[in-house]
Amino acid sequence: MTIKRELFSEDHDRFRDTVRRFLQREAEPNRERWEAQGAFDHAVFDAAGAAGILCPTVPEAYGGPGADPLYSAIVLEEAAPLSNFGLALTMHSEIVTNYMLHFGSEPLKQRYLPRMVAGDWVGALAMTEPAAGSDVKAIRTSALRDGEHYVLNGSKTFISNGTVCDFAIVAAKTEPTAAAKGVSLLIVDMNLPGANKGPPLKKIGLKSQDTGELFFADVRVPTTQILGEENRGFAYMMQELPWERLQIAISAVAAAEAAYSWTLTYVRDRRAFGQAVAEFQNTRFTLAELKTEITLGRTFVDRCLGLMLRGELDATTASMAKYWCSEMQGRVVDACLQLHGGYGFMAEYPIARAYVDARAQRIYGGTNEIMKELIARDL
Ligand SMILES: Cc1cc2nc3c(=O)[nH]c(=O)nc-3n(C[C@H](O)[C@H](O)[C@H](O)COP(=O)(O)OP(=O)(O)OC[C@H]3O[C@@H](n4cnc5c(N)ncnc54)[C@H](O)[C@@H]3O)c2cc1C
Repeated sequence: MTIKRELFSEDHDRFRDTVRRFLQREAEPNRERWEAQGAFDHAVFDAAGAAGILCPTVPEAYGGPGADPLYSAIVLEEAAPLSNFGLALTMHSEIVTNYMLHFGSEPLKQRYLPRMVAGDWVGALAMTEPAAGSDVKAIRTSALRDGEHYVLNGSKTFISNGTVCDFAIVAAKTEPTAAAKGVSLLIVDMNLPGANKGPPLKKIGLKSQDTGELFFADVRVPTTQILGEENRGFAYMMQELPWERLQIAISAVAAAEAAYSWTLTYVRDRRAFGQAVAEFQNTRFTLAELKTEITLGRTFVDRCLGLMLRGELDATTASMAKYWCSEMQGRVVDACLQLHGGYGFMAEYPIARAYVDARAQRIYGGTNEIMKELIARDL
């Protein structure tokens, strides 16, 4: 990089080495098998727990290391180039964990967080439904009060960790006639009677990332499993979104950096018309453009990380980061694939996987059209 990163200490660098070695040892050798089965193995979470890379920010009182969010960013950055097993880790360690930490009752924190840190239990967040994605308040899954239980009915789709998860935070209407103000968040153990999972969904990319469907038929969820207050779920989701969106931006920049570095190596090695492909002016100009874009993304994301550490990252800025960095990632992987020629289209080359994996980044976490809506509301 032309601009030196200033956020990380030597302790952070040591942790980065640990994460990198873990992923090389546990994730990379299994990638092809996971891609074939459409999901990673639950056991990799036990290994991740044992390696100390799950839930970095969970306080010691709940079995975690109580580290700062830069440790979270490191996991995201290291996992991003590896056909995005990072989405599984981040969903568990950063998204589900934070809902639990910020809105869970003390008994819920005591029950779930230590098991999440250890990797015994894998978590998912289930908002999207077949007929409601961007418009979360239009969800139809209902949770109607019956004494000391909610009776949960409905279905969820596109859920990350959906077939492997042990429990899910489910967004449901506790007040079905209300819109946003009728949504609550329930922690649902997936072994409860009436809670079922579909098989892994077949996707064009992120193939080792588990994406599934959840079905709920008269599932009796104890009322103590609610996160925070009844009908406040939508507000809680809005509160969590800035960090969730910055996570996508962080992984976008890291994935773009990896694609750039693979391509630089490739074009220096590959020859055409008696010279290295790297020597053509078109190649040099393309790489110059990509390096500029990546540096812009990296600088903006690091600034956002700094704001996040101080509790100052606002929703609009996080939306800008998610939108611009995921679009930039798309431009970078496309140009890098082109510079690989036909080899770029071969599945065995990492750039081919990076190309298809990148596409989802513009869709999940709120589509980029929704990001522009949110940015425009703040003009
Ligand atoms: C790999 C993957 C993993 C995912 N993981 C999870 C998960 O763990 N949990 C979860 O709950 N969900 C998850 N999702 C779902 C994801 O968040 C939704 O797909 C996304 O929010 C879009 O919703 P939708 O698919 O229903 O599209 P729709 O909302 O139907 O959108 C269709 C198109 O309309 C556009 N559009 C919609 N509303 C507007 C508007 N107001 N203005 C302009 N354009 C608009 C969209 O941008 C899009 O282009 C995942 C999705 C994928 C692909």
